[in-house]
Amino acid sequence: MPQDPLLLTEQERILQRAVHDFADNVLAPRAGELDEREEFPWENFRGLADMGLLGIGVPEAYGGAGGGFRESSIATEEIARGCAATSVIYGAHLSLATQTIARFGSDALKARFLPALAQGRRVAAFALTEPEAGSDVASLATAVTRKGDDYVLNGSKLFITNGDVASVYVVFATHDRALRTKGIDCLVLEKGTPGLAANRQSGKLGMRASSTAEVVFQDAAVPVENRIGEEGTGFYAAMQILESSRITIAAQCAGIAQACLEAAARYAGRRHAFGQPIAGFQAIQWMLADTAVEVDAARLLTRRAAVLKDMGLPHGTESAMAKLFASEAANRAADRAVQVHGGYGYFRGAPVERYFRDARVTEIYEGTSEVQRLIISRAVLQALASQ
Ligand SMILES: Cc1cc2nc3c(=O)[nH]c(=O)nc-3n(C[C@H](O)[C@H](O)[C@H](O)COP(=O)(O)OP(=O)(O)OC[C@H]3O[C@@H](n4cnc5c(N)ncnc54)[C@H](O)[C@@H]3O)c2cc1C
Repeated sequence: MPQDPLLLTEQERILQRAVHDFADNVLAPRAGELDEREEFPWENFRGLADMGLLGIGVPEAYGGAGGGFRESSIATEEIARGCAATSVIYGAHLSLATQTIARFGSDALKARFLPALAQGRRVAAFALTEPEAGSDVASLATAVTRKGDDYVLNGSKLFITNGDVASVYVVFATHDRALRTKGIDCLVLEKGTPGLAANRQSGKLGMRASSTAEVVFQDAAVPVENRIGEEGTGFYAAMQILESSRITIAAQCAGIAQACLEAAARYAGRRHAFGQPIAGFQAIQWMLADTAVEVDAARLLTRRAAVLKDMGLPHGTESAMAKLFASEAANRAADRAVQVHGGYGYFRGAPVERYFRDARVTEIYEGTSEVQRLIISRAVLQALASQ
């Protein structure tokens, strides 16, 4: 078991063992085929629900399992080790969309949506990015206009995970673009709302079993009570959610890197060259060693950010550090794993070829590596200025 047992409670070790086994027995054997077919893994999603993993971080009063980011990052790492695409679906559903409702929604919205989301009876999506606004969230253009007891939305979102399978959408829109961050509202929409449509975007490099979609609003009306938080607080909610969700992306990266390490070590033990297993060559040993160190470092940074978050302490810089380091470490781990496999690593059929493709997007979504460096460097400079 990869996590240092000293860092985990007994309950956390039980959770880790259960998800580890689920990943080995159920997720990993299906991952290659689902990737090939770009097929949403409904059975995996139901399996996560059956294990109670979709309820982590959701209060028990609303049908959840309680717990926090310590637990969700342990679960995410293990899920990603088995099937990275399933961990993307899990993160978008739980750490992004469900958490927005759980943390910022009214009691009525929580009662209406959380039980079904925590139990996996509905899938949720978090719709923030737009064709002309990704890193620069404050530039988003999807418009929300108040009309009597309704809000009416017009515009479109892009690259939305779970976008075409979701029945619950957490959507960010602006009632006044000139107000930039202070003009953004957050609303929850349901599938079947007239004027709401989703178009699947196929052809991704990796994470191919996760669905990604354009979500379009054409005079899509929702009741005013579907607003999450006060008017003008949507940007704040989105930043808070991304700050914590990055912890689970870091965990996802640790899981991908761990899968790379295991695959590379196994292959190095059975592949022979020059009359000996390639694991006997120092060049190969060093690649394994470097990955092992980086997986551990990624995991520890993730753990620190999760502990801070669960204690209610500031964790924005720490989650940015965890996400930045872990995503780049996952890409290095995947690169080394392909290298250890030689030509075999370059073809479909070798899981490392999939890990290599899956790892790439972790440096892009939920804040690119450049955005993480901005967050971290800002904190460094502020700390110096206040000395
Ligand atoms: C598979 C996938 C799933 C996704 N899922 C979701 C989802 O569920 N919900 C959602 O809302 N979004 C989702 N996204 C969108 C994702 O969060 C954005 O792609 C990401 O935030 C980057 O935005 P962008 O693509 O518009 O790139 P841009 O913001 O246009 O960035 C382009 C380049 O410019 C750099 N750049 C931008 N600003 C700066 C700056 N100030 N300083 C230095 N460099 C900068 C970036 O780092 C990047 O290298 C997903 C994306 C992918 C690929």
